[in-house]
Amino acid sequence: SFKAVVIEKAESGSASPVVRDFPDSELMEGDVTVRVSHSTVNYKDGLALTGRAPVVRRFPMIPGIDFAGTVETSSHPEFKPGDAVVLNGWGTGETHLGAYAERSRVKGDWLVRLPDGMSPAEAMAIGTAGYTAMLSLMALERHGLSPERGPAVVSGAAGGVGSVAIALLAKAGWHVVASTGRTGEADYLAGLGAAEIIPRDELAGKGRPLGKERWAAGIDTVGSTTLANMLSMTRYAGAVAACGLAGGMDLPASVAPFILRGVSLLGIDSVMAPKPLRQEAWNRLAKELDRDKLASMTRTIRLEDVIEAGRDILDGKIRGRIVVEIG
Ligand code: NAP
Repeated sequence: SFKAVVIEKAESGSASPVVRDFPDSELMEGDVTVRVSHSTVNYKDGLALTGRAPVVRRFPMIPGIDFAGTVETSSHPEFKPGDAVVLNGWGTGETHLGAYAERSRVKGDWLVRLPDGMSPAEAMAIGTAGYTAMLSLMALERHGLSPERGPAVVSGAAGGVGSVAIALLAKAGWHVVASTGRTGEADYLAGLGAAEIIPRDELAGKGRPLGKERWAAGIDTVGSTTLANMLSMTRYAGAVAACGLAGGMDLPASVAPFILRGVSLLGIDSVMAPKPLRQEAWNRLAKELDRDKLASMTRTIRLEDVIEAGRDILDGKIRGRIVVEIG
């Protein structure tokens, strides 16, 4: 058996998670067994751990949507024992036993090789949040956007996706406008590369169909009126990559930015993203994300601390990223 955070089914919904031994015989189907050394706490993990949204789809469940570790056994042609690997999504921690455990058995097709020169702890400091920030930047670039076109705005700036997005955009030469509810974190955000900091309230209320054109690109982690306002303030032919819902799942917007300014809304999904896109994102993260900035946004906790961190992230109390040390 191995140590894991486990959620059991309760009469209605899910019970509170507990740390306990989990039998190897109950591991799910897969052709690769991984000794998990690190995981992290993403917003979705907070939803699963607290049961605040129905993320967990089978019981008992080991939550945790991403991990880094070392292959123990494999019948998959691409992986052999000792290989360092990373996993994001594919239903891990939702429908398949997840990351908050010393051991995991998964499909080799879900795994990405840990990029050269990146440690498992760094991979989880990046985590699904950072990999999603990179998928967002890649989508903006595929749309033809570059820093000469104007500033880029990031919402939920002090959160996990937001923090990595700022560092990546700044490194790529963008003038980054960071929107945050924690203006006390101005120094932190400037350290990551934000050129301007605006209070979250400026984008929060119900706005007009078209506002002043303020930025050419955006990465939104908040949704709802914030995303609507980001779109209404996007310059002609710009785009906003939508990847989150920390402020709500609704989108009370008008079509005005799309049909009068040629603005585009780019959807970002990390969970089912195809393998070549993942590999490209991880390889670029290895090259383009400043390791000192990554360290400055990261705090390390133990497996036992995950349950409390899940509550904290939903309450908007987590700054940047968390690494969970397991092995
Ligand atoms: P996080 O660390 O909690 O960051 C979210 C940030 O949003 C918070 O730090 C806060 O930033 C801001 N925020 C929180 N509540 C808000 C509210 N009510 N109104 C406005 N702003 C609010 O979470 P994360 O792990 O970075 O994830 C961010 C979002 O992206 C989540 O919704 C998550 O589900 C989503 N996500 C999606 C994918 C995908 O595949 N599409 C992948 C990863 C994450 P400030 O304090 O700076 O304002």
